[in-house]
Amino acid sequence: MAQTKDKNYWVQLAESVTIPVDNIIDGKPVQASSGKTFTCISPIDGRVLAEIPSCSQADADAAVESARKAFDSGVWSQTAPVKRKKVLIKFADLILQHADELAILETLDMGKPIGDSTAIDIPATANCIRWNAEAIDKVYDEVAPTHPNELGLVTREPLGVVAAIVPWNFPLIMAAWKLGPALATGNSVVLKPSEKSPLTALRIGQLALDAGIPAGVLNVIAGFGKDAGEPLAKHMDVDGLVFTGSTAVGKHLLSLGATSNMKRTFVECGGKSPNIVFPDAPDLKAAAKAAAVGIFFNQGEVCTAGSRLLVHNAIKKEFIAEVVEAAKSLQPGHPLDPDTSMGAIVDQQQMSRVLGYVDKGTADGATIVAGGKQAMSESGGFYIEPTIFDDVTNQMTIAQEEIFGPVLSCIGFDSEEEAIAIANDTDYGLAAAIWTSDLARAHRVSRKVRAGSVWVNYYDAGDMTAPFGGFKQSGNGRDKSLHALEKYTELKATWMNLNY
Ligand code: NAD
Repeated sequence: MAQTKDKNYWVQLAESVTIPVDNIIDGKPVQASSGKTFTCISPIDGRVLAEIPSCSQADADAAVESARKAFDSGVWSQTAPVKRKKVLIKFADLILQHADELAILETLDMGKPIGDSTAIDIPATANCIRWNAEAIDKVYDEVAPTHPNELGLVTREPLGVVAAIVPWNFPLIMAAWKLGPALATGNSVVLKPSEKSPLTALRIGQLALDAGIPAGVLNVIAGFGKDAGEPLAKHMDVDGLVFTGSTAVGKHLLSLGATSNMKRTFVECGGKSPNIVFPDAPDLKAAAKAAAVGIFFNQGEVCTAGSRLLVHNAIKKEFIAEVVEAAKSLQPGHPLDPDTSMGAIVDQQQMSRVLGYVDKGTADGATIVAGGKQAMSESGGFYIEPTIFDDVTNQMTIAQEEIFGPVLSCIGFDSEEEAIAIANDTDYGLAAAIWTSDLARAHRVSRKVRAGSVWVNYYDAGDMTAPFGGFKQSGNGRDKSLHALEKYTELKATWMNLNY
């Protein structure tokens, strides 16, 4: 009989799961060469999970050296795409075979509800690896329309050694968005997860080996950004640097990439996405529910969170009341309970940061209409009530800065032009949504909003088929879809003289 995966099941698994505590360098599980570690704490209840290697320059150097050796040997880079496809599909299968283990590690480490880890994070990770694997033997190079006496080949070649530095909000998915296309195109990779959520990356480093990815092709090193990430960004033997994280660190990495060896540097950064509701939305109740989920999903720790709700003044009061109602069913609960829809904030530091923004919003004159406080403090973990501010102006700090927590800023508007102007009055340009029944307006507004993803009459849609990334200071690259392959390859033109 199939086991019921209730809270009890997950609590027991949390007690028995093996916490991965080793880097993977050159196919071997290793500690940091200095012997240094840092303490990994669960945001669920503040308990210590493990001591994790705190890597630095020497470890980054060892990982890059191994990646270079593997790349130059051709053991992966020079194999037929169909061969890489088979191994990567095995890797995806192994991720699914270890779904519960990976889900519990993800939830223990960063606090998201176990229901989300099992339904979203782990399947999406496997799907991303599989999608890239299945794509790679269907991508053709080009023959240029040259004179008949010559042949012009336009081919794509792997960059070489790629360093991938990723954040903590979707630890495995963000890693997979880099690993899928990087490995499929034949690169060797050094992955550095966030110090706030290293566990699942360390585990899949081993699963990749088990799947048959050769030693050195995927190295994983844990540690802090400054100590373990920066040596990769500055490294003269890293050909590509791919990053997801904050805009401030993204800018810094662009400068390090430029001043070291001009490594190809792609950064996917923050957002302050507008969710624009017109009075002619097809279903205002559904729109209100989606607005609540759009900001409170994953505790608001989502780059595309609909953190600015722009509502037409004719419906603003009633609409916000509906969002407040919808937020009632998204209250924080125990992350190991499958019925929980909002989990813990990743750590104490992030919780204090978010609560600081709540204080700032109040001080600036916005009105709290829901939440605003820490929750479940008796658990020893880090939880915040879903928080909604009305009477926000777009100039306020809570409308301009990325809070990265469950805080919604509601702003009124009177016309389509005003809505577009407010939507675009931000340094960011990651995503936007528009709710309207007017087809022409949907087209007009979606073209004028400066954002990498625009949704009409829903929020946060997307799968592997379309590119994902930002305009403006939300980044300069694209993850997902065949477009992502471009980041991991150099374009080569080979000219052949056919006169001989
Ligand atoms: P962060 O920038 O603090 O850290 C991201 C990664 O960079 C971590 O691994 C960190 O250790 C590393 N890092 C930090 N300083 C570094 C340095 N000096 N050199 C090298 N590496 C360094 O971001 P975070 O708090 O982990 O993640 C939240 C941010 O990620 C938010 O801004 C969010 O919007 C963004 N994000 C963007 C996307 C996207 O696709 N655009 C997706 C998810 C998250």
